[in-house]
Amino acid sequence: MNNIAENKFCSGCGVCSAVCPKECIKIKENPLGELRPTADENLCISCGKCKKVCSFNNNSVIPENFGKCFIGRAPDYKDNGSSGGVATFFLSNLLKENSADYVVSVKPNDNSDELFCYTVCKEEKELISCQGSAYYPVTLSKMLKDLKNLDGTVAVIGVPCFITALKNLKCESKFWDEKIKFLVGIVCGHTPSKHLVDALAFKSGHKRENITSIRFRIKDDNKPAWDYGVKLSFDDGSFVKSFGSDDFGFLFWRKFFSQECCNNCKDVFADNADITFMDAWLDEYKNECEGTSLLICRNKELLKILNPLIENGNIKEIENSKLVTAQKDLVEYKKNAGCHKAEENRRKEAAKVFEKYCERPEIIDQIRRINYKENLKRKNFFLWCIICLKDRLTK
Ligand SMILES: Cc1cc2nc3c(=O)[nH]c(=O)nc-3n(C[C@H](O)[C@H](O)[C@H](O)COP(=O)(O)OP(=O)(O)OC[C@H]3O[C@@H](n4cnc5c(N)ncnc54)[C@H](O)[C@@H]3O)c2cc1C
Ligand code: SF4
Ligand code: SF4
Ligand code: SF4
Repeated sequence: MNNIAENKFCSGCGVCSAVCPKECIKIKENPLGELRPTADENLCISCGKCKKVCSFNNNSVIPENFGKCFIGRAPDYKDNGSSGGVATFFLSNLLKENSADYVVSVKPNDNSDELFCYTVCKEEKELISCQGSAYYPVTLSKMLKDLKNLDGTVAVIGVPCFITALKNLKCESKFWDEKIKFLVGIVCGHTPSKHLVDALAFKSGHKRENITSIRFRIKDDNKPAWDYGVKLSFDDGSFVKSFGSDDFGFLFWRKFFSQECCNNCKDVFADNADITFMDAWLDEYKNECEGTSLLICRNKELLKILNPLIENGNIKEIENSKLVTAQKDLVEYKKNAGCHKAEENRRKEAAKVFEKYCERPEIIDQIRRINYKENLKRKNFFLWCIICLKDRLTK
């Protein structure tokens, strides 16, 4: 079992721990700030069930499984939503229509070592408190244990690799097939390790243990939707906001803290999900400050849940090809899965710098230097040599 995690083709989803007959798989944070499973080898009976459900081992994705596609906003949910708030409208209406008894979604947490976690929601207000995007490692491990004792059906929201593992789990077991009624996907460019948040905290003179809360995807009326931000609050009452055009965007979009599995991921649209939500990164929407949702609904039963938004003209049907246009960068990136040498090098260098400087606030400047060097390396080898020499002399 440990081989999967050692292979680094693992996102810490924790679905393997739910099928283990010996309950010997635990998910823990590793030194890179990632969640990874370890199996107690004294208990393991080598049954292979963990590998069977793992999306990195059994990636039975139906490629480009497009159904009906819609674009728009949910008026009552858009302000707090990452995009247009349609995901939360949908989950909330799913409960109101009794199509599932509970929704399993991700909420912010006040534990500085676990700033987001999966939670069970029964009411709209609980779902509203989950709005936003957790660019942060989460696991289903504990949640799946709790669900074994929960009466009723659930809809689970997750990034594509989580959705495929849950689909595999449903195929493996009648219990889980009946329990998990709907799989709700969200498009995912990458999930950074916890060190992204640690780095932003260090930059403002704080440590991880000082963080009291975090919210990604904050919006600003003066900024376009693509320039979204993050707000970190600390135990001394202070807070920092950082946007896409600032340190947050620099660290997040250049994938300094990306997990290795994300550089090997091919699933753009969470093809195994009944419905998938994403941003509308189209020219006509991306510069509006509000944010707009795009979605693919693959399950006819779920169209009725979206009906109030369709009837009021809040969301309108669009051609499937618009989805690919809206996600063209991600489609291209994932097409080249496994060939992202630059990101991989940057990730490794950032991890080294982080280890060395994690007690000091200049960490982000050191990481900036890696990017600077790397760009120069690509553009001008001679300049890169001079920088290396200068670095060696100043050491
Ligand atoms: C790690 C990550 C990477 C992403 N990358 C992209 C991308 O490259 N391109 C793109 O178009 N969209 C991406 N998204 C999706 C996007 O950020 C929005 O989540 C999506 O568009 C829904 O927005 P909304 O306003 O409709 O939902 P909201 O009303 O904001 O509701 C969001 C729902 O998602 C749930 N959620 C948040 N984080 C997680 C998580 N980590 N795992 C499971 N559920 C979660 C919340 O609990 C909530 O129920 C990413 C999301 C995440 C979490
Ligand atoms: S099932 Fe999930 S946690 Fe387990 S090895 Fe695979 S990706 Fe990792
Ligand atoms: S091989 Fe079987 S017993 Fe061993 S960790 Fe995996 S699921 Fe558990
Ligand atoms: S990019 Fe792929 S592997 Fe990485 S977290 Fe997202 S879905 Fe999982």
